[in-house]
Amino acid sequence: MSTTNSVPPEATDALRADVTGRVFVPGDPCYDQARHAWLLTVDQRPAMVVEATTAADVAAAVRFARSHRLRIAPQSTGHGASPLEPLASALLLRTSRMRGVRIDPDTRIARAEAGALWQDVAVAASNHGLAGLAGTASSVGVTGYTLGGGLGWLARRYGLAANSVTAAEIVTPNGQLVRADPEHEPDLFWALRGGGGSVGVVTALEMLLYPVPELYAGALFFPVQRAPEMLHLWREWTTSVPDEVTSVGRILRIPPLPSAPDQLRGRAFALVEAAYVGDEGTGAELIAPLRKLGPEIDTFASIPASALSQLHMDPTEPMPAVGDGTLLTDFPSAAADALVGQAGADADTMLISTEVRHLDGALRRHDADGGALPSIDAGYALYGMGVAATPDAVATVADHAQALKHALAPWHARHSFCNFADAPAPAQALLPADRYQRLHQIKTSYDPDDAIISAHPV
Ligand SMILES: Cc1cc2nc3c(=O)[nH]c(=O)nc-3n(C[C@H](O)[C@H](O)[C@H](O)COP(=O)(O)OP(=O)(O)OC[C@H]3O[C@@H](n4cnc5c(N)ncnc54)[C@H](O)[C@@H]3O)c2cc1C
Repeated sequence: MSTTNSVPPEATDALRADVTGRVFVPGDPCYDQARHAWLLTVDQRPAMVVEATTAADVAAAVRFARSHRLRIAPQSTGHGASPLEPLASALLLRTSRMRGVRIDPDTRIARAEAGALWQDVAVAASNHGLAGLAGTASSVGVTGYTLGGGLGWLARRYGLAANSVTAAEIVTPNGQLVRADPEHEPDLFWALRGGGGSVGVVTALEMLLYPVPELYAGALFFPVQRAPEMLHLWREWTTSVPDEVTSVGRILRIPPLPSAPDQLRGRAFALVEAAYVGDEGTGAELIAPLRKLGPEIDTFASIPASALSQLHMDPTEPMPAVGDGTLLTDFPSAAADALVGQAGADADTMLISTEVRHLDGALRRHDADGGALPSIDAGYALYGMGVAATPDAVATVADHAQALKHALAPWHARHSFCNFADAPAPAQALLPADRYQRLHQIKTSYDPDDAIISAHPV
């Protein structure tokens, strides 16, 4: 699609009159505040920003963009902004002010507007003793996370978040608001569940919640020098645990920030973090082999599902973070050694967090009614990230994240994972070939002009 970024001021004023949300163009006093992403390392400079407050605003913005030859980049928080192409000829369509969440406790279905964060759903769901399939961070947007698959603490028990979507409301690239579910717009419904957001602008998602009455979760911290023995034991342990256990093996370097707890500040640790869907007694038995190693800190306890968002200690405020990751077929001893080489006690690295997540369980089971990514054909997921305050530091952290991936290349799965692919990558690299083929057909049919910019282009 050929585009232009010169919109006449009177057209911008007409859009302002048409929407209940706000419209910003370069030079407006609040343009800089409106354009920034959660990832502070990303400097997005769109031709226009629309902060929608309703689905009608989204539709008006899409029609406006089409008639002024702007492409459209939907975004809620900007956690996933790093792979985006330049937005100079695009309308950045922010949904961050559409945070309504409604829970139906009888059907166990949550309806979340496109700007809702996982913390919004977690709090509303926990009032009914229910939990959604959130990721590790409460500040991540429900929509981008779920469209990309969504891998969280309940993943080995209940699968990818995308598989729990029961319906979506979406503005198509021609500006029409439609409902996509198994009976209506089945192709759109398929494409949205794990295929990213390339086929339109979602205005709300409906998804199944789960009763999680008992949960035993926490972390075991070991000094980083013990990373080799801890990671080897953890990887062996993952081969025997039930699907109710989802866990992460991790090396974490805590910056010397005043906000960090005294015991952790400025230190490096090897950790196992895990969540067991079940009672404390069985959970304690399950982690006993890891506990026998004698951790320096042990935070395991019975917790409510709403507290899971604290387990991984993800930042809640916008950050200049840089990272990348991929899927691993397996995580044998040699892979654990390679990881220690990149991030262990002797590594010269700017990665703050280097982690391997255990997959399999429900994640591996193929749901015939699923969408673009119904299952993950890989045993583990790898992700490394650091914080970078200057362009030089951004380049160095990015190099270290790529070096980590490279060191584990012998175990790379055939495709990567949308939500962990922070470096630019086409959707083709993130889906099995037959699934990508179908996604491409749907994209071409709904968006022949490629008006919608997505994090990973189709
Ligand atoms: C601190 C942190 C922790 C994370 N933890 C996890 C985790 O545990 N598990 C996991 O799976 N992922 C995790 N992620 C990755 C995260 O899921 C992705 O970055 C995801 O894209 C974020 O969604 P968002 O809506 O917040 O981000 P955004 O940047 O707003 O959106 C990302 C992309 O999603 C699409 N999109 C967003 N909104 C819409 C819409 N309304 N319509 C159409 N398309 C849309 C667009 O392509 C957009 O570029 C984490 C990321 C961070 C930074």
